[in-house]
Amino acid sequence: MADDGRAGPDTGVPTRNWAGNVTWSAARRHRPTTVDELRELVAASRRIRAVGSRHSFNRLADTTGDLVAVDGLPPTVEIDPVRGTATVAAGLRYGEVAARLHEQGYALPNMASLPHISVAGAVATATHGSGERHGNLATSVVALELVTADGDLVRVDATDARFPGLVVGLGAYGVVVRLTLALVPTFEIRQYVHLDLPREAMDEALASAYSVSLFTDWRGTGFDQVWRKQVADQEPPPTRWLGATAADTPRHPVPGLPGDPCTVQLGVPGPWHERLPHFRPGFTPSSGQELQSEYHVPRTAAAEALAALDGVRDRIAAVVQICELRTVAADRLWLSPQYDRDTLSIHFTWIADAGAVAPVVAAVEERLAPFAPRPHWGKVFDLPPAAVAAAYPRFADAVAAMVAADPTGTFRNDLLDRYLPR
Ligand SMILES: Cc1cc2nc3c(=O)[nH]c(=O)nc-3n(C[C@H](O)[C@H](O)[C@H](O)COP(=O)(O)OP(=O)(O)OC[C@H]3O[C@@H](n4cnc5c(N)ncnc54)[C@H](O)[C@@H]3O)c2cc1C
Repeated sequence: MADDGRAGPDTGVPTRNWAGNVTWSAARRHRPTTVDELRELVAASRRIRAVGSRHSFNRLADTTGDLVAVDGLPPTVEIDPVRGTATVAAGLRYGEVAARLHEQGYALPNMASLPHISVAGAVATATHGSGERHGNLATSVVALELVTADGDLVRVDATDARFPGLVVGLGAYGVVVRLTLALVPTFEIRQYVHLDLPREAMDEALASAYSVSLFTDWRGTGFDQVWRKQVADQEPPPTRWLGATAADTPRHPVPGLPGDPCTVQLGVPGPWHERLPHFRPGFTPSSGQELQSEYHVPRTAAAEALAALDGVRDRIAAVVQICELRTVAADRLWLSPQYDRDTLSIHFTWIADAGAVAPVVAAVEERLAPFAPRPHWGKVFDLPPAAVAAAYPRFADAVAAMVAADPTGTFRNDLLDRYLPR
């Protein structure tokens, strides 16, 4: 197995994930500074996994062998104005990439709730924001370069038959070093928060702006907060809107927390990357003491899925800090939770108590089972593997592509063996 002589804490790769609920099993941790160094490392390793900014809540990034972070590689952002693309270093965080794109007059169509996450890690798990017409972050990828098990550097673009499998790749095809993203012209967003939206207004609210999030703590039937991120020239919403009332101070999605870590609200216009995330760089996103789960169900089943969860409302309320509903548009990426399906994404920020949360996760999964839920690959879930496989029409193709790309199982780990058995 590879040993670059820098293994151990001094490599700068932390021993745990962001939430602290996963301590890596890795025998060695690495942070190469050149692609050649990475290629040698991968070629010499029998078991290796890439790790990004460590924001996943499960063991998807874990390995018993070599854990490698790519944030030591040169932090390049190369804009191609003719093609309207940017080729970015895999370990860069979205916040860093977005600021550099905006300076040059460009934007990405959407962002997740936080700008702290790495591009490669977010794309690998189909991380998403919200918006009925916007795909998840992986849908901006038009090409990626990765180091395969034998240490080769391979570029795969949208003309390659393997592309729809490799993009939401769960780290199973190789170590991604660069991604090329499709750009749009930079744009401005105004963010408004309304309070106390009745459940009946859900569909109208979700369709009312560029990106909409509904928040509930499940203690009532409606939504405590609606966050609307609208293009700056859209007419501002009235103070009383769909039965909700405009907030007059900045809000945090988690009840009781101050609004300071959150992006600017109250309708003040600002660039896309300073409004589309909920949280600002330089602050702890979300509550910081938490676990998360998320299930993507067909958009058309939204009302029924929520009604099913009403049956376990009290159990959810006992362990949830906040629950967020978002919408994400369908795509063609085989392991994307949005594959061939517009989704309602039902997200739970749980308390940081795995023992208390696990039975409620099980109850939520049982309630959502009729809707063929697709779990967020990077969050806490325990669905039966057969149910996950059955929810993805191209599942077998994705697994076959993993075997073809990595016949010796260099990039495998326990979570992949359970959910994507070869
Ligand atoms: C506070 C908080 C808020 C969040 N908000 C959202 C949200 O709004 N929307 C959403 O969808 N998710 C959200 N997430 C989840 C998060 O976006 C995903 O877990 C995402 O994968 C994190 O990216 P990362 O760089 O930390 O990846 P990691 O957790 O480090 O890794 C995730 C996966 O990516 C793979 N990977 C990482 N780098 C590479 C690489 N270079 N090459 C190949 N594979 C690689 C890993 O092997 C692993 O399989 C949130 C998480 C937190 C902690």
